[in-house]
Amino acid sequence: MIVKLLKFAGLALLALVVVLMERTMTYRSKQEKVKPVAHIRVSTDCFTHLSEAVKFRTISYEEPKGCDTLVFEGLIHYLQATYPLTTSLLHPQRINKLSLLYTWKGRNPDLKPMILIGHMDVVPAVTDSGEQWEVPPYSGLIKDGAIWGRGSLDDKINVIGILEAVEILIKEGFTPERTLYLAFGHDEEVGGRNGASKIAEYLVNQHVKAAFLLDEGLVITSGIVPGIEQNVALIGVAEKGYASFELSVTAEGGHSSMPAKETPIGILAAAVSALEKHPMPSRLSVPVQQFLDYIGPEMPFFYKLAFANRWLLSRLVIATYEKSNAGTAIVRTTTAPTIFRSGTKDNVLPGYASAIVNFRILPGDAITDVQTHILKTVNDSRVKVQLSGHFSEAGEISHVDCPEFLVLEKSIRQIFPNTLTAPSLVIAGTDSRHYASITDNLYRFVPLIAGPDDLKRIHGVNEKMSCPNFINCICFFRQLILNSNK
Ligand SMILES: [Zn+2]
Repeated sequence: MIVKLLKFAGLALLALVVVLMERTMTYRSKQEKVKPVAHIRVSTDCFTHLSEAVKFRTISYEEPKGCDTLVFEGLIHYLQATYPLTTSLLHPQRINKLSLLYTWKGRNPDLKPMILIGHMDVVPAVTDSGEQWEVPPYSGLIKDGAIWGRGSLDDKINVIGILEAVEILIKEGFTPERTLYLAFGHDEEVGGRNGASKIAEYLVNQHVKAAFLLDEGLVITSGIVPGIEQNVALIGVAEKGYASFELSVTAEGGHSSMPAKETPIGILAAAVSALEKHPMPSRLSVPVQQFLDYIGPEMPFFYKLAFANRWLLSRLVIATYEKSNAGTAIVRTTTAPTIFRSGTKDNVLPGYASAIVNFRILPGDAITDVQTHILKTVNDSRVKVQLSGHFSEAGEISHVDCPEFLVLEKSIRQIFPNTLTAPSLVIAGTDSRHYASITDNLYRFVPLIAGPDDLKRIHGVNEKMSCPNFINCICFFRQLILNSNK
């Protein structure tokens, strides 16, 4: 009997190994071979243009009153003067006073337009960590082969890079078949409700349906994807949703010499702690599965084995992600208590305590799911729970099996040879979500090569754009516009 059982177990194990190996060996590469194109000569004036753009302190503040409209006016006039051909041919239109929409009419009205977007505003240069900049943050200094300053990466590189490319194309005598819109919002860093949202509204009123849209988001990573030596261009095909909930407790206050067994602070602290200890379940959402399928076949054997056999090993893959906070953000709806308020004096019991908990929501989870999760986890009727501030659902997932995605991949490989491409999930929010009703294909990708140190500079100190990287960026936008017209 035992021998029979052992034989059976042995056979089952063998069958399992065969299946695992079969799937690993037939895990086919999705990386199309593309011939690189020769880079065009780009005038070094482009460095001065980005540097000058950085000098405009177009800072977004949470309160709309904080917006310095004169600085935005300055930048807009600078753009119009610096790119005279683009200005005269694409007629930039003001949307809601400070956002810009350029239109390059295509010859073929049957082709759906493409939209390239960027944002002109930046976050303040002072960071919470108090770290100091090596150069004044709005100096736009060009030193050590880079353009320094707030906005040089996020996101004036897009605005200036796109305008440089269009100006070059006009000089080359190019005329598009497909209509091209350039849309530059002025308040992305505070949600885009006055900029991108209004531009999108305008386009909807004009009945515009676009083939695709390209916005900031992910980059070409260098030395970041484990197990891969090549650079990997990550193309955001979805972004996480956003919601904050206020949790509050009201009770009788009084003298601290005679406290009740439980006080608002204690009750609320327990609720927040329960939420931290019991986050929403982790899983591999569709964009992450797509990422694994594009990258897996290029990886060393054991990674490949795990990625090709997610039907059995998905928990192992998820556990690998969960080793870091950044990885965890990719596989679950995250829970982040960000504000806690209560009490006024050390000998007075507060009658009220409130906390804000911010959730970044995985595609497939809805804001109502988060609310249900909070109520179930806190499980205390004394804690009131309500949605607070602005929120957005995780949007739809853009297509990857379509000509638009292929054109994007091709343009990347033509300008950045030996680069792998992969769909991916953006864990932050971008302006692109406002355009969801205009196109099913929202892609979030900035054509710049970035290592771990560069990513820290975005919204951090010492933001800078390397000069060769910026040239590549301009070449990429030019190539993308050309390819989209074939
Ligand atoms: Zn940005």
